[in-house]
Amino acid sequence: MLAKVRGAKAKRRQKAKAKVPVDRTGARAGDVARKYLVEAYGCQMNMHDGERLAGLLESAGFESTADPADADVIVINTCSVRERAEDKLFTRLGEFRDAARAVGHTPVIAVTGCVAQQEGAALLKRSKLIDIVVGTQRVKQLPMLVTRALDEDIGPQIDINPHEDVSFPLGIARRGDAVKAYVTIIEGCNEFCAFCVVPYTRGHERMRPAAEILAEVRDAAARGHREVQLLGQIVNHYQAPDDGACDFAALLERVHEVEGIERIRFASPHPRHVTSRLLEAYRTLPKVCKHLHLPVQSGSTRVLAAMRRRYSRERYLEILQEVREAVPGICLSTDMIVGFPGETTADFEDTLSLTAAARFHSMFSFKYSPRPKTLAIKRMPDDVAEEEKTRRIVELQAMQREIQSDLHAQSVGRVEQVLIDATSRRREHELSGRTSGNTVVNLPGDPAWLGRLAQVRITAAGPNSVRGEVLEVEG
Ligand code: SF4
Repeated sequence: MLAKVRGAKAKRRQKAKAKVPVDRTGARAGDVARKYLVEAYGCQMNMHDGERLAGLLESAGFESTADPADADVIVINTCSVRERAEDKLFTRLGEFRDAARAVGHTPVIAVTGCVAQQEGAALLKRSKLIDIVVGTQRVKQLPMLVTRALDEDIGPQIDINPHEDVSFPLGIARRGDAVKAYVTIIEGCNEFCAFCVVPYTRGHERMRPAAEILAEVRDAAARGHREVQLLGQIVNHYQAPDDGACDFAALLERVHEVEGIERIRFASPHPRHVTSRLLEAYRTLPKVCKHLHLPVQSGSTRVLAAMRRRYSRERYLEILQEVREAVPGICLSTDMIVGFPGETTADFEDTLSLTAAARFHSMFSFKYSPRPKTLAIKRMPDDVAEEEKTRRIVELQAMQREIQSDLHAQSVGRVEQVLIDATSRRREHELSGRTSGNTVVNLPGDPAWLGRLAQVRITAAGPNSVRGEVLEVEG
């Protein structure tokens, strides 16, 4: 099977090579540019990594396509935070194989991201459709590996050694969103929460120089982006390596000064690093959106200790109170895991009571699944039955849905500033945007308003979004 696939790919590539003369710079005279397709799954950081991979390939002369049948190279940027996200890779590989067979086409397939870092050569054994495996800290190598795969009859290639290049793996991002720009400020994490694979797949925490971050924000503003989202595993642990005076709050101040940027968001902070300086930044910097996503993971102090989160339920609730007192009207959201090893019914009741007390505007909730290399998989049996995990998540989500519906209903009649960030694919003159607190607002309007700030009256509410009418739109 492997030989057959390689043979077919090699033939196609050799044909392309024979047809097109290559000049001394390596460019192909008169050639149509080679096409790439990048698919990314998972968190915002992973989606942004997909944008960087696209940027790297474009710098090497590739052009984007949305059609797998037209792509010379398909890059799948994987996520391994949950088991389901990992399974998606193999589902997509099967779909790409079927699409390729239908048109007699064999693109180079590269797997990047956390699953690539974690599984390495095992991926090549598991699927013969994969040509290239690139680790999280080696993405700069992608164009070279892809070009080799296209031009030479070479077998599978793998580059996952994080120790050779731990510098910031940056490319020039090809931003997929016209309004929001993601900007990475920290890579990796040193926390080693018991359930989390990130420290193993993304490596130790590395801070990006403030000068580079600000240059990227200015560039995004110059290209018309109105909102910037600062990304890192623990974004509020930021300390600039090139400027001792620049902690996370100071970075927010500097980003705030960039003309053209109207909104600043960040993900994700850690409860242990919510400082008075950060709260002061919320108060004094109007462009910093009044939303804080603060992952709690469990409402039980006993489970939090087993997870190695290093705060108690009581401390977390205290932090929420401090935040609400310092920034009245701020909207809070969180991440929650149910069915962590050893989680009893009483522990789960604590999660429910914390949810009721915190009244989050939104929540990402997950059933625990053991991840490779983590402390939990090594030392804690996955002892909550699957049906029980399902029962707990259904109950938690029902409670959260009620809280959201209630909070949204309370906003009806209020006038909010909304940044319009999307147009509907299904309905003409249907737009959506977000309030400063991150609530999705659907509204009728002119597609030309994309990227503009509008004053919107909230007219109706649902559990996941609200509806509004535009009173005034800028420019
Ligand atoms: S803080 Fe914990 S959950 Fe977040 S990335 Fe680091 S190890 Fe994972």
